[in-house]
Amino acid sequence: MKRTIKDIGVKGKKVFLRVDFNVPLDDSGNITDASRITKELPTIKYLIAHGARVIICTHLGRPKGEPNPRLSTIVIAKYLVGVLHCKIKFSPTDIGDEVKKMADELQDGEILVLENIRFYKEEEENSPIFASKLASLADIYVNDAFGTAHRKHASIYGVAKLLPNAVGFLMGNEINTITEVLEKPEHPFVAILGGAKVSDKLAVVHNLIKLCDTVLIGGGMAYTFLKAQGAKIGKSLYEENCLEDAKAILEEAKQNNKEIILPVDHIASTILSPNATVIKIPTKDIPDSLVGLDIGKKTIKLFVKKIKQAKTIIWNGPMGVFEYEAFKRGTKKIAKAVAKNKGKTIVGGGDSIAALHALKLDKDIYHISTGGGASLKLIAGESLPGVDVISDVEE
Ligand code: AMP
Repeated sequence: MKRTIKDIGVKGKKVFLRVDFNVPLDDSGNITDASRITKELPTIKYLIAHGARVIICTHLGRPKGEPNPRLSTIVIAKYLVGVLHCKIKFSPTDIGDEVKKMADELQDGEILVLENIRFYKEEEENSPIFASKLASLADIYVNDAFGTAHRKHASIYGVAKLLPNAVGFLMGNEINTITEVLEKPEHPFVAILGGAKVSDKLAVVHNLIKLCDTVLIGGGMAYTFLKAQGAKIGKSLYEENCLEDAKAILEEAKQNNKEIILPVDHIASTILSPNATVIKIPTKDIPDSLVGLDIGKKTIKLFVKKIKQAKTIIWNGPMGVFEYEAFKRGTKKIAKAVAKNKGKTIVGGGDSIAALHALKLDKDIYHISTGGGASLKLIAGESLPGVDVISDVEE
């Protein structure tokens, strides 16, 4: 068990709090969805209430190691003033003497928001010098950035090694919930995977066939598996360099009596476009001229049947090109079925969560993960540098 903020004394201490406030912004720079911040408020409120001097650090967008005023975290500092109704300072300068002075002058219960940490190229390089500059600002390090825990960056990994450390409530909850389900799942345990990139998810499927009873694969990633089974996939998405691994995984599942269920029919078109003509393909095979863009009716029925029987479910990735109305149906039906399931359901990944959100079904899910990539790493049995570096609680 990782040490949490409840296991350490924070009164009067400068706490470097790494969060994931990578919120979406509109063209005018306004926050369009603040849910990442809202989920973090319990940790911040706890720290303030217990007299900590909180230094908040996040990345925002992809500034690629250079200052970019459009991605300044001042927008986050302003938002926090509105929801926390307290004095919040903002450090617009380089991580150096001036910021250190601001940190040193903080009083108990006050907050300092640092400028976007990805303005500094040393962050993603995990520079030891940069990490020690960050560490010099604080007495304690707290990581609550689950969405970034798989990155070995200076503010995630380097600085954590230099200070007494702990995880925040959000991180603790993510890790405990996901590991508990993976370690002691109630069966039947069904995983549903979708999305475009099969290369990102091969290790996940590989680990899941050890843990689950059934893996349902839809979305673009299904076509590499279908091809590995010898099906015709037309012009559908396909990653040649994953074909052999996909074949091996299908074989391993068979040997171990685990089910991998692939689409048996499709919604296709001649091109990937929002106005494309929808063509229903009632078979597993897709004609040469067409591209598969969603799972078909029979597949939905098959998947929903398995979802209904499940006591544990993990879902990550859309079943089709969810962004376009014509290819949304599969993802929507799966979202509804997962939400109806009364067992332990864990959902990660932007598109799957967006589908649930659009259908107002978020509240029916046991655990919605704030970190798609990080949760997939955990599910793949891989370690997260940002978690590993945090000390365990003393027995
Ligand atoms: P990922 O980031 O790997 O989870 O992929 C998400 C993306 O997969 C979404 O943008 C979907 O539009 C895309 N996607 C899902 N199904 C398909 C498909 N059959 N063909 C092409 N792209 C797809």
